[in-house]
Amino acid sequence: MAKFASFPKEPVHGVCRDLTYEGRGVVAFGEEVIFVQGMFPGEEGDVQIQYRRNSNLFGKVKKLDQVSPDRVEPRCKICSSCGGCQFQQYAYPAQLLFKSNKVKEQFRKIGHMDVDVLPTIGMDDPYYYRNKIQMPFGRDIKGQIYCGFYKENSHIIVPVNECFIEDKRAVHILDVLKKLLKSFRIAPYDEDRHEGVLRHALIRTSYYEKQIMLVLVTAVDVFPSRGNFVKALLKECPEITTIVQNINPRSTNVILGQKQYVLFGKGYIEDSLCGVKFQISAKSFYQTNPVTTEKLYTYAMECAKLSKEDVVLDAYSGIGTIGLVAAKYCKEVLSVEIVEEAVRDAERNARRNHIENFKEVADDASAFMVRMAKQNIPLDVLFMDPPRKGSDQKFLDAVLKLKPKRIVYISCDPSSLARDCSYINKSYQIESIQPFDMFPHTTHVETICCLSLANKKAQK
Ligand code: SAH
Repeated sequence: MAKFASFPKEPVHGVCRDLTYEGRGVVAFGEEVIFVQGMFPGEEGDVQIQYRRNSNLFGKVKKLDQVSPDRVEPRCKICSSCGGCQFQQYAYPAQLLFKSNKVKEQFRKIGHMDVDVLPTIGMDDPYYYRNKIQMPFGRDIKGQIYCGFYKENSHIIVPVNECFIEDKRAVHILDVLKKLLKSFRIAPYDEDRHEGVLRHALIRTSYYEKQIMLVLVTAVDVFPSRGNFVKALLKECPEITTIVQNINPRSTNVILGQKQYVLFGKGYIEDSLCGVKFQISAKSFYQTNPVTTEKLYTYAMECAKLSKEDVVLDAYSGIGTIGLVAAKYCKEVLSVEIVEEAVRDAERNARRNHIENFKEVADDASAFMVRMAKQNIPLDVLFMDPPRKGSDQKFLDAVLKLKPKRIVYISCDPSSLARDCSYINKSYQIESIQPFDMFPHTTHVETICCLSLANKKAQK
């Protein structure tokens, strides 16, 4: 059958054979496949094809004749439309299995390596785990103010009134915000008309401390009756310990702008991980799932097998969390991070925890590594935790030159992890690959790949 440009308007019948990287069901259709959100392997039924993007067909389930034993009733009524949780209808053990398979598959496809991947470490209670919530605000045709999540691949806000993965304290603050915006007549920002004030609310909750930060992201500097608004907000939500106004006038997908003012409190919150106390500012990266992060860091330390003689580098270090946890087990820690505010947080965090063998540098990790390699600075163990796109060749070439005996690679994207690991595979052997469920009910996975300098003699 020749490939066709258009597709049937009537539902088509099919069986879901597999899940894609993004967790979409794969349904064969003639010579093509349809990617169907919310259809799971083994399920059979009618699929409505919705659109073609590039050469791929995308559809939604119309009717199921055969239901997977892994399909469960989701807690959230809007989980299939909001774009936040693609997997709430998929049983938790099946989600965990999907994630281990996803990592293995990326190593095969992208790294051309057949590797063993350990079972994904999940959460005992995989709900209300997020310590950071960021929601855009809008107004419906009746003038009602709402906030929510962007629908997948769009700028359409799906209103959210309750959420099962966010900290409950944040949901309450958002409710109060909606009410106060209305009574203070503060308009949400309209992206098309470039009118209005409030773009996003970002809330960070501390897991161990009773501290909450609210960041009001506005399109303009001027915030009508700012003082009274803050007073009214604090009256209803005394649990908020700091409020920041961040100004983002640009048309961009990036939520936070450069300029910001502290409207109340210290401008940061504090939290702990593995017994170390951290200060977190509005712009600094901080892992969003504190329960899984502690498991992740504990495993990272086990992999690193640190000794008191070891010189350690924590690359892509954020506010220094990994390096500061590692400091007590080794001789010294150097860390490198590109966001200046995070570097300042890291320095403060070292001081407040009385950690003296820690030094944070504000720089591009690759530029820093290249300099280290040129100067031949000895390095025993490398922790690296790059953003989604992974590391780059410059960084990895410098690693190959410096030859740390162990690398603990922490990754939020298995495809860039697989690519980078295969690049250094001639010199480094993989000891273990351990996925963690940092983001339950989504298709994302966090992974630690533990590597050690290959023993060439042993390999021969
Ligand atoms: N290890 C930290 C942060 C990991 S997130 C933690 O566990 O909390 C990745 C970090 O890499 C972010 O803080 C980001 O600002 C930083 N980053 C992104 N690109 C970078 C680059 N080119 N050089 C150095 N740091 C970078």
